[in-house]
Amino acid sequence: MASADILEFPRPGSEAPPARAGVAGERPLGPAELQLAHVLHGHLDLVSLLERFLSEVRGAQPIEGICYSPPDSGECFVAGRGSAQSLRSRLHFDGEYLGQVEAQVGAELRTPLAALLAPLASPLRNALHHHRVKLLARKDPLTGLGNRMALESALETEVARAQRFGHPFSLLIADIDHFKQVNDTLGHSFGDQVIRAVAAQVRSCLRPYDQAFRYGGEEFVVVLSQTGVGKALQVAERIRKRISQRCPVDAAGGRVTVSIGVGEIRADEGIDALFDRTDRALYRAKNEGRNRSLAAS
Ligand code: GH3
Ligand code: MG
Ligand code: MG
Repeated sequence: MASADILEFPRPGSEAPPARAGVAGERPLGPAELQLAHVLHGHLDLVSLLERFLSEVRGAQPIEGICYSPPDSGECFVAGRGSAQSLRSRLHFDGEYLGQVEAQVGAELRTPLAALLAPLASPLRNALHHHRVKLLARKDPLTGLGNRMALESALETEVARAQRFGHPFSLLIADIDHFKQVNDTLGHSFGDQVIRAVAAQVRSCLRPYDQAFRYGGEEFVVVLSQTGVGKALQVAERIRKRISQRCPVDAAGGRVTVSIGVGEIRADEGIDALFDRTDRALYRAKNEGRNRSLAAS
């Protein structure tokens, strides 16, 4: 059983009203809706589900695009294109709140939005659960940063963009200095707190579209989209300074520091070669005294 809150499309000539929700009651799906739901169940990926839904309803309804926002995630999944008017609707399935769907419409819908969305509800719930499991599998539980699996797919995306559009990107590899001593003198669980604090400071230095990952025990990788090595070094220095200023270790004033290697992708280079060069820069930074950032050569 699916239900959705609906917004009525404004009457021709009337002002578009602010978002206002009515409520559609739950009802069983009819044969055509069941058939559509069956087709949609074949799509576990959220975007491909929305695209399929749009292509199925667009012939009969003036819907140009659709945007789905799951609850409490800040994400938005889009199919189709925008339009002058939009209708919003909250979706539920079997008592579970699934988030909000915004339909971009070119004219008044012939069917209330709630009725249109009803066959989408169950497939959307499956795709949402699938999406959440995928996200969990890519998250480092200690810091909330992306894990190594997430890093690999982010790097593949960046390399593809670099090769296709010639966009630069840079990598930072940061490693906490003398971390073994922190563990040995203050204990492993305190060490965990330090790793969390460093992760928070790394994240606080980044733009929304930069990505940070926990690569190993006390190592972090940052992927800076559309960023050359000069700007990447500035970001690395900002991270390094902020960590040394804001992550005290003990009452005696001992401070956590990091060393950072910085590398920009080259035209003829793959991920492994970039990683090796950046890692060598990190180890030069260690050898030259730690608590510093160095660019890869
Ligand atoms: P360097 O300045 O050369 O990087 O020295 P280091 O002591 O940081 O380097 P080393 O690789 O010898 O030590 C890393 C330590 O990180 C060893 C390991 O016990 C610790 N470690 C790895 N993962 C975790 C973790 O999840 N939690 C904690 N508390 N410690 C961890
Ligand atoms: Mg290390
Ligand atoms: Mg270390």
